[in-house]
Amino acid sequence: MNDLPDIFDLKGSVAVVTGASSGIGVQFAKALAIKGCDLALLARRLEKLNDVAAEVRKYGVRCETYQCDVTSTENVNAVAEQVKKDFGTMHILINNAGGNGGMDPIENLSDKDWNFVLDLNLTSIMKVSRAFGPMMIEQKYGRVINVASMFGMVGSALNCSAYHATKAAVCNLSRSMAADWAKHQITVNSLCPGFFLSELTGDLLETDDFQAFIKSKCPSERQGNVGELDSAVLFLASKQSGYVTGITLPVDGGWTCV
Ligand code: NDP
Repeated sequence: MNDLPDIFDLKGSVAVVTGASSGIGVQFAKALAIKGCDLALLARRLEKLNDVAAEVRKYGVRCETYQCDVTSTENVNAVAEQVKKDFGTMHILINNAGGNGGMDPIENLSDKDWNFVLDLNLTSIMKVSRAFGPMMIEQKYGRVINVASMFGMVGSALNCSAYHATKAAVCNLSRSMAADWAKHQITVNSLCPGFFLSELTGDLLETDDFQAFIKSKCPSERQGNVGELDSAVLFLASKQSGYVTGITLPVDGGWTCV
């Protein structure tokens, strides 16, 4: 007989997930919904977002969608206000929206591409956290999960220096936010996935050369599978993880341990 409570139970919680229209964000939304969490899903492509919402509502949770460009201060602020109107508050923020600007070596990198990746992967997390933070501060409770990457912890020769720089910055932004917000009982942690199939990675991961590269670099000799981020996101989102803050959690098959 197991008399431990379900430590991942999220009934009564509301999570905001950015970049929930495809890829990893969809996995996060489903994992949270399975544990009873209501959801506010954000992305630019509303149609795709609505398809995801229809899927997660099958788990019996409330799910609303919001068209949002996370690089736009006005858009982000307006959506935060609307989420407050719709749900009253929110408890979990998953800053997942992100991407890459292309794969150029540093000598060919344009200011435009560099700034695009900075705005999307780093500044957006500040903007979204700034907009939703007051709700968590007011209620003295919150869980913020910033999606960085294993390439926030190590480099690579993949010609993605802007991406790598932003993801490392996300890890340290998270530590700093964690320290600032600990007094409000808000935890802030970085989640660092290895390679998972998504719109971002599909073209690369579907080539034999890249599979061979992963096999040679990753101790687990493979990319991550659907579902292999669920336990990490639920751990960081759970009510019981209140003393876990400022950490950088890799889920990368051991890529960063060697
Ligand atoms: P996808 O391209 O599948 O998903 C990216 C998501 O971000 C989409 O939902 C997209 O929605 C959203 N997005 C992009 N730009 C904006 C914007 N300006 N405003 C709002 N939303 C935006 O890629 P992944 O699922 O792979 O990526 C998700 C996160 O995971 C990223 O931060 C990525 O860096 C990180 N990551 C991914 C890894 C992988 O192997 N897949 C490994 C390590 C980290 P829309 O276009 O509708 O706006």
